[in-house]
Amino acid sequence: MAKLKEITNYLENLAPISLQEPYDNAGLIVGDTNSEISAVLVTLDVSEEVIEEAIEKKVQLIVAHHPIIFSGLKKITGENYVERSIIKAIKNDIAIYAAHTNLDRVTGGVNSKICEKLGLQNCKILQAAAGQLKKLVTFIPVEYSDKVRKAIFKAGAGNIGNYDSCGYTSNGEGSFRGNKNSQPFVGEKGKIHTEKEVRFETIFPAYLQGKIIQTLLNSHPYEEVAYDIYVLENKFDKTGMGMIGTLPTPISEKEFLFQLKNTFHTGVIKHTALLNKQVKTIAVCGGSGSFLLKQAITAGANFFVSGDFKYHQFFDAENKIVIADIGHFESEQFTKELFYELLTKKFPKFALHLSEANTNPVFYF
Ligand SMILES: [Zn+2]
Repeated sequence: MAKLKEITNYLENLAPISLQEPYDNAGLIVGDTNSEISAVLVTLDVSEEVIEEAIEKKVQLIVAHHPIIFSGLKKITGENYVERSIIKAIKNDIAIYAAHTNLDRVTGGVNSKICEKLGLQNCKILQAAAGQLKKLVTFIPVEYSDKVRKAIFKAGAGNIGNYDSCGYTSNGEGSFRGNKNSQPFVGEKGKIHTEKEVRFETIFPAYLQGKIIQTLLNSHPYEEVAYDIYVLENKFDKTGMGMIGTLPTPISEKEFLFQLKNTFHTGVIKHTALLNKQVKTIAVCGGSGSFLLKQAITAGANFFVSGDFKYHQFFDAENKIVIADIGHFESEQFTKELFYELLTKKFPKFALHLSEANTNPVFYF
């Protein structure tokens, strides 16, 4: 048994909600965070069939990729499948949680899973996120600098590429005067005091700001801790949209199409003209990825594997890349497996079920 809150906290640590797209509605959609959970059903979509399955399998929580509610509901009368699913879930005490575009954007998320299934190596984010990095500058009395720095790194600051604990310190002097209500750690109240301090600076992902500041305040000895937070223009290479990686050995375009068809069990692959080139570099984006085509071309990918391409968007390949539209559902189907792995790792005693319902609304004749 675990509280629902523990599960959502765990998932949100891996895929922070603040990373989701503005139109999205990831997070807990139905349910009480204090309820006890012992069995979970993982699925790509929530439908009435999936709720039925949840009832049958006696689970208290459904973890889905697509949120069943995107925009607000003003009435819940059972008029459509969304309302009927919600009513059925609430009646049966089943919570619904979704990790959607936030899970698309993290390393180890939806696109990492696609890369893994394709056997790609050296995978990295295709379009690194902007506005996700911040800088912390703080001033620490010399003898505490090691302790505070270590605590801040441990909280998740200072990661750049393959390096952790990245920071910079310089020596200086801080000055302050406490009023009559103060309790200065050094010096006397009412008197200006100067203290040898280090200026410490490091970077951190914006979604960790609360944790980083709390860690700073907890580890720093001063009554009032001086610090600055800067928004950075730098891109954060650990989060963003799509991924790119390389095949261990180059293969022909036809061989790669066969591999795609087998791996993703696709009814059909819609693709642009083959270019008679060996295939080595593959860009992927689960779901609707046409917006990343330019990045995939610029990054030198031979293939762009995604879903939901419109007729006119296929023209944009311009013989620079092969677009392979394998279908929205097909591209994201292994997200179920991803949820399963993530939840088993943390909650090995849970009864975890992979939904058996085929929620793909698209059929191939
Ligand atoms: Zn999707």
